[in-house]
Amino acid sequence: MSKLSSAGVRVLLVEDEAEIADFVLVGLREEGYAAEHAAGGAEGWARLSTEAWDVVLLDWWLPGIDGLTLLRRFRATNSTTPVIFLTARDAVSDRVRGLDAGAEDYLCKPFAFEELLARVRSLTRRLDRRPATALAHGDVALDLDAQRATRAGKRLDLTAKEFTLLAVLLRNAGAVLSRARIYEQVWDEEYDGLSNTLAVHVGELRRKLEAHGPRLVHTVRGTGYVFRRDQDA
Ligand code: CA
Repeated sequence: MSKLSSAGVRVLLVEDEAEIADFVLVGLREEGYAAEHAAGGAEGWARLSTEAWDVVLLDWWLPGIDGLTLLRRFRATNSTTPVIFLTARDAVSDRVRGLDAGAEDYLCKPFAFEELLARVRSLTRRLDRRPATALAHGDVALDLDAQRATRAGKRLDLTAKEFTLLAVLLRNAGAVLSRARIYEQVWDEEYDGLSNTLAVHVGELRRKLEAHGPRLVHTVRGTGYVFRRDQDA
């Protein structure tokens, strides 16, 4: 692939081994990719859940959240971004688990950089258009690159957490999300069922959204929240 076609292609590498990370990042950047690095599971999730990527290279064994769990969570957000597993595990059953969880491809360590490159190229070649860096539902729109949110064309002044919370709700519009699931996705921590952090953030988000229209973030008693317009119900 010419550097022209790799230019601006966003690749996220989630890998805790510094040596492998350096080798892959330097190589990809030399090829013209916009390659970024997350060194652990939590950081990987933070970047996966809030930014748009063209390809994700995911290590299986990671501190914090392991690669398989990350992949499952990522697919649960309806993301279609291609994922390549990078791992020392080469047993057939592991490969199957990875592919079943939604990985497009699988590369066993140690691998040759040329092979990684060929796989990235093959997956990005299939991109007919640039993947969405925007989320929208009804009159609410999010620009994930610029971290900008609007409702009815009016800019919403959101904190980083409120933005992530809105992105999670919007990605799952129409589906009821449990407090635990939202909490895990936004704060990357297990929900203790006591903290009112989520309720406070939902309150703030509602206040800002409802300055420009009717309620969108609805409480589902005893369960959690759902992002829905009245006419969607
Ligand atoms: Ca690892």
